[in-house]
Amino acid sequence: PNYLIDLCLSSFSLKYPPVKFLSEKDRKRILITGGAGFVGSHLTDKLMMDGHEVTVVDNFFTGRKRNVEHWLGHENFELINHDVVEPLYIEVDQIYHLASPASPPNYMYNPIKTLKTNTIGTLNMLGLAKRVGARLLLASTSEVYGDPEVHPQNEEYWGHVNPIGPRACYDEGKRVAETMCYAYMKQEGVEVRVARIFNTFGSRMHMNDGRVVSNFILQALQGEPLTCVFNLQHLKNRNLNANALCPNFIMMSCLFPSDLVNGLVLLMNSNISSPVNLGNPEEHTILEFARLIKSLVVSRSQIQFLPEAQDDPQRRRPDIQKAKMMLGWEPVVPLEEGLNKTIQYFSRELEHQANNQYI
Ligand code: NAD
Ligand code: UDP
Ligand code: UDP
Repeated sequence: PNYLIDLCLSSFSLKYPPVKFLSEKDRKRILITGGAGFVGSHLTDKLMMDGHEVTVVDNFFTGRKRNVEHWLGHENFELINHDVVEPLYIEVDQIYHLASPASPPNYMYNPIKTLKTNTIGTLNMLGLAKRVGARLLLASTSEVYGDPEVHPQNEEYWGHVNPIGPRACYDEGKRVAETMCYAYMKQEGVEVRVARIFNTFGSRMHMNDGRVVSNFILQALQGEPLTCVFNLQHLKNRNLNANALCPNFIMMSCLFPSDLVNGLVLLMNSNISSPVNLGNPEEHTILEFARLIKSLVVSRSQIQFLPEAQDDPQRRRPDIQKAKMMLGWEPVVPLEEGLNKTIQYFSRELEHQANNQYI
């Protein structure tokens, strides 16, 4: 969609990206909280181009107007500067509830606010869903599994979360948000959908987001060392040092936004009310990501090894059988293609920053 949007706006001088015509009966009024953020803005594009009426609610903590500016003024689009911790009274058919800081530096910046957003904010959106009879999809996270003891993680796993650690404001905040969804479903009959999203990266991520792939790409593009976190314990056990061939056992996977938003929309419109994992089961070590990004950028950056932060999950790999079987969903964007698009985006952002620094 990004490529299509750029093409339509620049090459064909269209005022807006193309929007499908939907009859009154099929057109929905959709609220996206956190819709000016990374995932939310891609979801906005998909739902707008599918012909729906989209209201984005965002307090611009980590999101930016720039991410959705190509829709400003469109008759199907509305942008509201609002904090979900405050009640919201509007009329909608579906709510995609994404509002929450998502990267560790952002959610740890103000842990109390992160807790309020995920608890009070979710309560408000469920209250809204109850009042207007809307269906609500919660953007939950693989972090509800904490530092998991089983691999891969399927939706039956209850998780392994430190309730008082530095990540707890986010992990426990999302766990309570899930609990609230099912309380409103059972007690009030609200229709809920819960997506447990695994690491996703791509265009429109904030330059200061701080998650691993955007960090590595920006570092590689700027010739800075790639900050590769390793597990000290694993190294001690093997009596190796970080400069030897590093057995970096921290494993993760990488999903791209076009795959994620397709999954979110399929889940919202399905009849599955229990949680569903959306992620890429292809697993790599952090070191492999660093090396791959360095080679795709053709960068001379060094790789710098840093000890992991407290409670950092050692492995996260989604079991996506449920999404495959029940939604017919699985990721289709190949890793290198997704990374190349993300690299292009961040090079343009660096150019944009350089061109605007004297304004
Ligand atoms: P992001 O930081 O780019 O987007 C979050 C958006 O929510 C931002 O636009 C921010 O301004 C907004 N927001 C934050 N607090 C708010 C509040 N109190 N009121 C209104 N708006 C508020 O992050 P993202 O990666 O796009 O994440 C979107 C959602 O997906 C989050 O709920 C996140 O927990 C979830 N998620 C993302 C990933 C991922 O890898 N990207 C993984 C798991 C879960
Ligand atoms: N709420 C909201 N918009 C609405 C309806 C409710 O923001 O359209 C908020 C409301 O302020 C309340 C929360 O959602 O704090 C939960 O609503 P609910 O009706 O479940 O609880 P009650 O108002 O009965 O405490
Ligand atoms: N990480 C890293 N270098 C960085 C940022 C993160 O090696 O510059 C590691 C981090 O320790 C974790 C993994 O990458 O093991 C994923 O972290 P990220 O912050 O991207 O997301 P999280 O899944 O922790 O929310």
